[in-house]
Amino acid sequence: MTHADDHPDKLRADLKKWVRQNEDLGSGWFLDEGKPEEISEPNTESTVGEIPEAVVARVEKARKPLAPEAKVTASNVAKESKPTTKPTTKPTTKPAPKPAPEITNPEFKQECERFVAQALATIAKQSPQVSAVAEFDQKNSDNPKETLLALRDEALSCQKCGLAKSRTQVVFGSGDAQARVLFIGEAPGREEDLQGEPFVGASGQLLTKIIEAIGFDRRHIYIANILKCRPPQNRDPLLDEIEACSTFLKQQLSIIQPKIICCLGKVAAQTLLGSDLSLGRLREGIHFYEGIPVMATYHPAALLRNPAWKKDTWQDVQRLRALHDSLDDVVTNRSNAKGGS
Ligand code: SF4
Repeated sequence: MTHADDHPDKLRADLKKWVRQNEDLGSGWFLDEGKPEEISEPNTESTVGEIPEAVVARVEKARKPLAPEAKVTASNVAKESKPTTKPTTKPTTKPAPKPAPEITNPEFKQECERFVAQALATIAKQSPQVSAVAEFDQKNSDNPKETLLALRDEALSCQKCGLAKSRTQVVFGSGDAQARVLFIGEAPGREEDLQGEPFVGASGQLLTKIIEAIGFDRRHIYIANILKCRPPQNRDPLLDEIEACSTFLKQQLSIIQPKIICCLGKVAAQTLLGSDLSLGRLREGIHFYEGIPVMATYHPAALLRNPAWKKDTWQDVQRLRALHDSLDDVVTNRSNAKGGS
């Protein structure tokens, strides 16, 4: 006998309802504690207002050394102190990011525009910095993927700190060797230690949802940790471990040269920025690491423990996406204007 819930019509109706719910919730469904009011259909319009002239000037200055066919983007704002022969074009096999989710809450939209405008102004004021890893041997610098693989091979046999004895595997990092956005966590957890990949446990799945909610997927970004080996019982990293391991992260950043770094959690943010400010304070503004803009938000593991923080995280990553897009808009708009005149 067929149970009423198993009837084909009922199953079809349930399936239609499920599909509709997924469409309604859109890209923000990682916020399963409640539908965020900001989420609706994607929009390709920029949320950025006035672009400071100084930003444009810096970007245009940075474009000069690039090959003529190379795509010029404002990521060079963060890169102008780092001469490189690395091509700036992206592999064609990777799909373009989806449009940013539209921000329909007028108050948050205004706040987001203000944040981006202030961030651009702060970026404009940044004096060019010489990378502390400029001496890194980048004989493969025209092939960041190969260079990263070579560095990974070096890390896999690293014995520079005591964690080498307790780890199962070194968790070097994963993602696009030319990623524009680079997420940094604290250290591998149990699952990561077993699999040798960053953010693969429950918090990794949540991070994937967060990344997808802002129109990217894990092929567009790079994920690394401050420490490449798991501290026993997931304790906080020790100072000597951070010092021993920092070379790998510095070299990863030097090779990838992301446009924006997003620190996940207090430990990652404080360590990268050398700051003792609270995560709440660090989340408020834009910071810099070797000239690269840095933002901070909650670690996905903290969100699993405190789902109420998901809404703040959602706003943080929407700001990140808006800043990411605005850095492109700066030069694209100016180039179009010049091309048309
Ligand atoms: S944590 Fe870093 S420095 Fe320590 S052994 Fe692992 S790779 Fe080497």
